[in-house]
Amino acid sequence: MIAPFIHDAPSQRIVFAPGAVGQVAEEATRLGMARALVIATPGSGATLGARVRDLLGARAAGLHAQAVIHVPRGVAAAGLQAAQGANADGLVVVGGGSAIGLAKAIAHQTALPILALPTTYSGSEATPIFGLSEGDEKLVQRDPRVLPRTVIYDPDLTLGLPAAVSAASGMNAIAHCVEAFWVPDRTPVTMALAAEALRLLVPGLPRAVADGNDKDARNACLAASWLAGAALAAGTGLHHKLAHVLGGFGLPHAEAHALILPHVARFNLAAATDAAARLAATFGAADAVTALETMLQTFPIPQRLRDLGFERGKIEAAAIQVAALEINAPRRVSEDEVRMLLMAAF
Ligand code: NAD
Repeated sequence: MIAPFIHDAPSQRIVFAPGAVGQVAEEATRLGMARALVIATPGSGATLGARVRDLLGARAAGLHAQAVIHVPRGVAAAGLQAAQGANADGLVVVGGGSAIGLAKAIAHQTALPILALPTTYSGSEATPIFGLSEGDEKLVQRDPRVLPRTVIYDPDLTLGLPAAVSAASGMNAIAHCVEAFWVPDRTPVTMALAAEALRLLVPGLPRAVADGNDKDARNACLAASWLAGAALAAGTGLHHKLAHVLGGFGLPHAEAHALILPHVARFNLAAATDAAARLAATFGAADAVTALETMLQTFPIPQRLRDLGFERGKIEAAAIQVAALEINAPRRVSEDEVRMLLMAAF
């Protein structure tokens, strides 16, 4: 039986095609941008950013390649200053969730429209959610104005994504789908998005990790990352809340998501038999948790919290923060249970 639901998902213009980065000037014009500030991360992100700036030509007001994971407040302030200094009328962001997060933080202050070109599988471009970090805490906010108006998905931009980043970020997308199956506000649409994303990711992600130049796999994973991000419209539960708290302690977002997923799944699926059956069917396995564990183990990414540099002494503080969120679905989670879960992941 379908439980009562309200489906309230924002709409976006999505352009998906290999080589679609070539349409960035046209899409910026469509959004009325005449002076777009390009946002990216430093390093290889800056190279991508410079390419997008050049493609925008006269519509580019500059390149700000200073994005940092979890958007520390100072980084957000510098981004705002860059947008105001350039007299920007729009933000064109190219990169992963870190770059998109900075663009969102600027849009939150300025209401500037965002055109996004995602190059990882974070799915951030499909949500009106953004985070700012300060000390050991990460503040997550929701603002419809930060949702990118247009998203250009160009799978060719992901060919250079290193195997470890592909794997961690792909597991982040899988986590969006797994959680979509058990959050209380799930709808038939978010369930369908998650199921289709998993149908593409389960075979596609191992192939993209094994061979970054596998165009079919890259294509499937990028499309899936959009669907997985859109499935987040149903809200998040224990998995994402735990990952956000760990992010506040400075852990890399996607890697933390990846390694805690089997542990949270073991805990939650025990109380969500429908979700467990759906997941097992998607993986073609008898047990969804074992399938998730096996997938994680084949990837070249950290497998335990300790491998990420998380100190055992911080488990207590993290457990207190998560338990204070009073998560009740699909089952209530106590401080003790969060502690045990983190110990297992440690
Ligand atoms: P990321 O953006 O930090 O990217 C990881 C690394 O990959 C970076 O060094 C980046 O420069 C590099 N990179 C990105 N694209 C590349 C490419 N095509 N080729 C080569 N290198 C490339 O990592 P992420 O996992 O995408 O994003 C993490 C951030 O996104 C976190 O701050 C997290 O909180 C946020 N996030 C937000 C949401 C949301 O809904 N708001 C969802 C998921 C993640």
